[in-house]
Amino acid sequence: MGLVVVGGQAAGLSAASRARRIDQSLDITVLEKGSRISYGACGLPYFIEGQVRKLDDLTVYTPDFFERDRNIRIRANAEVVAVEHPKREIVLQTGERVRYDRLVWAAGARPKLRFTDPRVFDFHTAIDAERLQRFLDELRPKTAAIVGGSYIGLEMVTALRARGLKVELFEATDSLLQRHDSHLTALVAKRLERCCVMVRFNTRVADPSSLPHDLILATAGLAPNVEALAAAGAEIGRSGALRVSDRCETTLHGVYAAGDCCETDHIVTNRPAWIPLGTTANKMGRVAGANAAGRRDRFQGIAGTSIVRVCGLGVASTGLSEAQARAEGFHPVVARIEAKSKPKYFLGRPLHVELIADSGSGRLLGGSVVGDDGALARIDVIATALAARMKVEDLAAVDFAYTPPFAPVMEPLLIVAQQLLKDLGRSAW
Ligand SMILES: Cc1cc2nc3c(=O)[nH]c(=O)nc-3n(C[C@H](O)[C@H](O)[C@H](O)COP(=O)(O)OP(=O)(O)OC[C@H]3O[C@@H](n4cnc5c(N)ncnc54)[C@H](O)[C@@H]3O)c2cc1C
Repeated sequence: MGLVVVGGQAAGLSAASRARRIDQSLDITVLEKGSRISYGACGLPYFIEGQVRKLDDLTVYTPDFFERDRNIRIRANAEVVAVEHPKREIVLQTGERVRYDRLVWAAGARPKLRFTDPRVFDFHTAIDAERLQRFLDELRPKTAAIVGGSYIGLEMVTALRARGLKVELFEATDSLLQRHDSHLTALVAKRLERCCVMVRFNTRVADPSSLPHDLILATAGLAPNVEALAAAGAEIGRSGALRVSDRCETTLHGVYAAGDCCETDHIVTNRPAWIPLGTTANKMGRVAGANAAGRRDRFQGIAGTSIVRVCGLGVASTGLSEAQARAEGFHPVVARIEAKSKPKYFLGRPLHVELIADSGSGRLLGGSVVGDDGALARIDVIATALAARMKVEDLAAVDFAYTPPFAPVMEPLLIVAQQLLKDLGRSAW
């Protein structure tokens, strides 16, 4: 049986590898339109910042490794332009046809707009990063505008400040990180101000070329790569990404999809959501690959858990913000505390923790953790609580570890959970 995978990064290669592990007899081909496979796009901002010396350091596995160790055929520079599902055939840009029995579509997403002005850059692929690096090295720009206050925009603020540029950030709405969260936004904006970054909220940049800066980075807006599969009849969700079942199967029988090109169920709302992230791509890829190889694995959904470093500040969130919870029909109650990540004598740093629950049921809906130290561990606990559909009282009863070099005696998550219980009228200190 022939399995064809379209897309040679996180989702596609996870799918191909998982399928191979399950079925040694499959004939597996990965078609990738670019020349590089298996590199971590998440590392690209750190290449610009200077923490990653060369792009090749971001490569996880080489094509040779897949061919030799996993018996997976890798075809780079092979762009798929059409899928003829009734014939089980893929058409490449060259006109060549490739047959499949099962197909995994893992074509990712792309920036919505591309620009021709040599001062204006996208930042999505290794090629974009290479071009930007060359521009920075050769032309030594002094000022930069970043359009879009999502996590990629904020990572690039950090990278370009580290390279000594004067940076201005333009955001079309009044909030950062697409959570409609004024509290989180204020904390991040304060750090940006401290790092001498000018933030322009409610400023939609229709034409980046109109900005006077030496360098303009357009990071706003992604579009899922779904066109060929949509033309073949696969259903598209409200977000514009592919609809898939919890088995990662599209509405075309035998065609699976995973990663940035797909919607998936949100574990808090139980509705489809499109939150393209690397962790999701890897996990969905594994499920899509397993099922394409004949298993019946299930992808359990996402909470949109993420963390980003903004000029040294860890900014982490999971589940719904207060505004998102309200828009989804919940009645959210929010507790916010500031605590220390460790005791004072171990140089504990301020940690801002927000926890949100539904007022009727007490079920946890989401949270955020912001601080220079300790944000990751706490957000992962909240994410685990969401996955377990915990109520506030369940979190307040967790037995957390304590020793001064790592944590304060009163764990910030317990303080915020106690506060939330109090606000919900379920218990008092
Ligand atoms: C700068 C940056 C930083 C990021 N940081 C983080 C982070 O810190 N944490 C996190 O969780 N996520 C992060 N992400 C997101 C993460 O990289 C993506 O979610 C992940 O790469 C998605 O994997 P994917 O395989 O679905 O898609 P992609 O990585 O986009 O891969 C899809 C592949 O399909 C190929 N392709 C597309 N169309 C075709 C076609 N027609 N024919 C053949 N091949 C095709 C593309 O060339 C591409 O190589 C970051 C992304 C960027 C750009």
